[in-house]
Order: sequence, then C-alpha cells, then structure tokens
Amino acid sequence: MVRDSLRDIAYNPLLDTSQVINSIVFGPNISRRLNRVLGINILPLGKVVCTFRCIYCPLVSTLTCISSWKDFIKYNWSSTNVILENLMKTLEILDKIPLDSIVVIGNGEPTLHPKFDEIMHGLRKTIDLLSPEMNLAVFTNSSLVSNINVIRGLAEADYVVAKLDAVTEELRAIINRPHKDIASLAEIIRGLFVLRRELVDRNSKLIISTTLIRTPIGYTNMENKHLHRLLKTLEELDPDQVHLEIPPSPYATAIPPRRSEVVRVATFLSEVLGEDRVFILAGTTVPISVRLIKKAMANRDDLYMKEEVRISDKLRILLIESPGAKTRVSILETLLGKRLSCNSIAKNLGLSWWAVQRHLNLLLESGLIRSIKFGKRTLYTITSMGVTVLEALKLAESEESIILKLL
Ligand code: SF4
Repeated sequence: MVRDSLRDIAYNPLLDTSQVINSIVFGPNISRRLNRVLGINILPLGKVVCTFRCIYCPLVSTLTCISSWKDFIKYNWSSTNVILENLMKTLEILDKIPLDSIVVIGNGEPTLHPKFDEIMHGLRKTIDLLSPEMNLAVFTNSSLVSNINVIRGLAEADYVVAKLDAVTEELRAIINRPHKDIASLAEIIRGLFVLRRELVDRNSKLIISTTLIRTPIGYTNMENKHLHRLLKTLEELDPDQVHLEIPPSPYATAIPPRRSEVVRVATFLSEVLGEDRVFILAGTTVPISVRLIKKAMANRDDLYMKEEVRISDKLRILLIESPGAKTRVSILETLLGKRLSCNSIAKNLGLSWWAVQRHLNLLLESGLIRSIKFGKRTLYTITSMGVTVLEALKLAESEESIILKLL
C-alpha cells in the first residue's frame, strides 16, 4: 500500500535487519554504504523468503527457504506496475527530501521474483526519468546469478552488492545452507564473472560482500586455506570493492570473529587487491578501508604526545578538563557509526535539546563531528578524526590497540 503522508515515512536512521518489512517502499533510511536511501522490497509483503538459510541470518526463524518463486506461489508477488507505482507515489510525497539511492533489498533474496529483470528495468527507467542523480542499488546473495535473466536484471543497477561467503561447497553448505536445488558454487562464480563484465560495460559497480564467521564446532571462512582460495577468486573476478562484514551478534549457530581477526583478513586480502578496495563493516559503522585503518595506526604517534598528555591541549581541554567534557565524550560515543539529530542525541543521553546543541557546536568547531542536511533536518555524525581522538582517549585508559577500538 502506498503511504500517503510524510509522517508515515518517518526518518529511521538505520534499517533494522531483523525486522520483517510489510511494505513495498520503506524508508528513507541512512545506509552504511549508500547514504540516504529508499528501500524497495519486491518479495511478498510480510514474508521472508530466501534461497539460503545463513547461520548468521537474523531472520532465519521466520524464513522460508525456496529455490524458485514457484515454491511460494500461494503468496502475492507484487507486479512490476504496482512496485513502480508505489515508488513514484512515494517519490512524489518525499518531493524535496534528497535521496542518494533506491535500493532493492528486503525480506530475503530479491532475485527470486519471477519478474526480477522487468522490475529492475522499470526501476532504472523511473529513476532516469524522475531523479537521474539517484543511484539504483541491489543486494543479492548471488545464488541465482547463473540465470541470465537475473544477470540482466542486476546489470540495470549502478551498484550490485553480491554475497560471497564461501568458495568451497563444503563451507557454503555450512555457512549459507542453500536450498538443495540451488546451482553449484562453480556455476554461481561463473555467473558472477558474466555479471562483472555486464557491469563494467555499463560503468556500474560490483561490491562483493563476505561475512566473516566461525561455527561453535570450529568451521570458519577465515582459515588460511580458504582465504587463499577466496583471494584467488576475488583477484580474477576483480570487483570494485570487497566488504568484510561482521554479524552484529552471536547466534547459537554462528560466532562473530574477533576484530583483530577481521583486520588480519582485511590486510591479507588488501595486499593483492589494494588498500582502497577492501573495507570492513562492523556494527553500524560506515565501511572503513584498510588504508584508513593503516593510517589511523600510523597517525597514532602524531596524536599522542609523549609522557602523560596524549592529545593536543585544545582537545584535552574540550574532552577532559572543561565543564561538560564528559558529556561531549558521550555525544561522540553516541555518534559512532550513526547519523543522529540533536533531538535523538538529547533523548539518548537524557539531556535537553539546548544543552546538546551547545556541545554539538563545540564539537563541530573542533572538527570531531560533521553535520549533514537531510531535508529540513540536520543530522550529525562523527568524523574519522573524531573516531581516532575518541579511541585515543580510551587507549589512554586501557592501552589497547587503537585499531581494535576503531572498528
Ligand atoms: S542471504 Fe540474507 S536473507 Fe538469505 S538467509 Fe542469508 S542473511 Fe538471511
């Protein structure tokens, strides 16, 4: 159903991936990768359908694992017209709210839709007509890319984020637990190569997303043998970026890696793929490149002064010694990986709007945070300098490695 008022399309800072989506169009949200986005869910409303049952999937308890839409025929698969009509009406309602991308994502695997290529073509045309400055993005688990129609549909996007957690059948069976009728890994990787060529021809981007994980009985995609095979595949596939993801919380079937392990994997991959192509996504933070991680480590000595005083005098006064310093540190912590309004920060910290605004102005002046215009609202987020300084403060207390804290 098309939502008909701005109030219904209230700003939601980040999509909660554990919630089941009940509408075709949802958001706007702030995406970790794509900034201000409007989501499009093309799967049956309120249902979770996927070709995988990943051991770390937050929706796994409500998910129906299928290999084709025909296994789920009794449910209503939205038609292309209804999807496009919903999008157009929502864009009309949102009018002047700036958006960076339309993202096809939702309850499960979007490429299962029987008219996936037609929908993507329609979305492409709609965006080009109404808001050519916006990008079209799609998230897929890659399981159906051996199908040429799926490749055609994906190739309509400016950004394709494609999952590749495992490059051996054995690990794929353990981590992604695909439906028994899903194509072999070799066929899927071949499909990714075809997709890559299509995207290059259109100047669009392929991002490979790998969730790093271990099972309680010791299987993991982070062991050296698997990493070498993954690196070989990635080197040949040559994606624009590789995103290494950490699941937000442990599950009975899956244990997230330690952050130091993730940095080890990222560094290993970046030695061949390059520091600007390998990113880490942890929690709600935006992707952090290996280059930035290395820079933060190198800058550590610049940030820390010798002896007892470890950050510059100005920042020491702002964050340690002057009245309100603790509140300013709390604001920085609250903004880690988030973009929040003054109001939300005030609510989070139990402070008045005026008090928070005063602190925000001081933090803005010092370059530790920055502001982002979102329609009529102003959101705030921490800068990389802010992250590094915050970590410096914590390091001063704990002497832990800055890199572990950065993520
Ligand atoms: S591919 Fe995504 S939706 Fe499907 S099971 Fe895995 S995490 Fe869940």
